[in-house]
Amino acid sequence: MENPVITRIEKAKGRETVPNPWPASTSFTVTGALAIPGIMGIYALAKKAPRRLPLQLSFWVALTTALRRFICARCDYYGEYCSTLMGKWTALFLERESEPLETAGFYWDAILGACIILYPLPQAFKISWKFAVVYLASWVAALALFNQLACSICPIQACPMPGRGRGRGGNES
Ligand code: SF4
Repeated sequence: MENPVITRIEKAKGRETVPNPWPASTSFTVTGALAIPGIMGIYALAKKAPRRLPLQLSFWVALTTALRRFICARCDYYGEYCSTLMGKWTALFLERESEPLETAGFYWDAILGACIILYPLPQAFKISWKFAVVYLASWVAALALFNQLACSICPIQACPMPGRGRGRGGNES
């Protein structure tokens, strides 16, 4: 749903916005689904290789704080319930950036995401192969849900993910 305050700010900057296509339920559902395997990965490292845990936590901190400056803080949906809770989260600690959203930021999101998924995998197998299968299946399910609920209607032009529901405007790269 369109946020009248944000739309007014964007129009004052001469930028056209597209109404937010995501209901708040999508933000909570997608974020919750991604959190489950995320917590499983942290658990596996804490249990089997605690000295490696700080690196995993660093990946998470980089993804949810520093990188948001280059993506969510530049997004039309900054401060809103969007594809995840990142739009709301980012507005808690970063000002909106005036620079355009760039595709490179999404590549960094993907690289850090891959590190977060793969780094705990050996420790997940050390717990048990069943744990590792559930861990990987949880990521597959969460990413499929993300694609289905969020990406399929996403109007952000700068995102390089294939199969997005673009073409209705949004942030240009
Ligand atoms: S880049 Fe995605 S997650 Fe971040 S504010 Fe925009 S829609 Fe939300």
